[in-house]
Amino acid sequence: MSFPTIIAIDGPAASGKSTLAKRLAAELGYLYFDTGVMYRAITWVVLARGVDSADEAAVTSLAEAVTIDVQPATLEDGRDFDVLVEGQDITWEIRSAGVEANVSQVSAYPGVRKALSAQQRRVGMRGRVVMVGRDIGTVVLPEAQLKIYLDASVEERARRRYDEQVARGHSVSLEAVLKAMRKRDEIDSTRDVAPLRAAQDAIVIDSDHMDIEAVLRETKALVTG
Ligand code: C5P
Repeated sequence: MSFPTIIAIDGPAASGKSTLAKRLAAELGYLYFDTGVMYRAITWVVLARGVDSADEAAVTSLAEAVTIDVQPATLEDGRDFDVLVEGQDITWEIRSAGVEANVSQVSAYPGVRKALSAQQRRVGMRGRVVMVGRDIGTVVLPEAQLKIYLDASVEERARRRYDEQVARGHSVSLEAVLKAMRKRDEIDSTRDVAPLRAAQDAIVIDSDHMDIEAVLRETKALVTG
């Protein structure tokens, strides 16, 4: 059996999707593409330009007009790639609390999803890609030969995100992170267009009691059949 050439990894925030995808792509020599970055970049533009994130028409026009670029990393500051909007480097800005608080609202707009998923699909169809998101296996690339849905409880995910923020020197409380995480889960999984859910043919992995090495081992076993 040949290896899958399109691998979709979906799941809720902080389930470990990006880390898994990054490691897997490196081992296979595939492109690692984190689609959340695109939704975050649009959200950053919305906030930076003072657009009201509740103004669906204005947000959608921005998503249709703005050029987002993801390029190989030019700085060694822990980044996996550069995220550029109209040439401006916003790699770290897209991880801010402001973006976190607004990204689910922005990415629920059908016009925003349409603009971004078309771009994602173009990249994915070239193959040799590990693509990460919420709707890759269900909507963006339903033809992916391997679909993983990586899950974990909201408490565990909040704790992971909290540890990450603290390691980056941010002062946050675990309760605030948990509350924000529940809110994002709620919006992501109840929106009308492309809600967060496992594809029917996805393999669900619950990572609550697994570290990244264990998840990677299980995934690699699925890749090699
Ligand atoms: O994965 P990440 O936390 O970076 O994603 C940020 C947000 O972008 C998610 O909470 C979700 O609202 C949105 N998103 C999405 N579809 C994707 C990837 C991300 O709606 N394929």
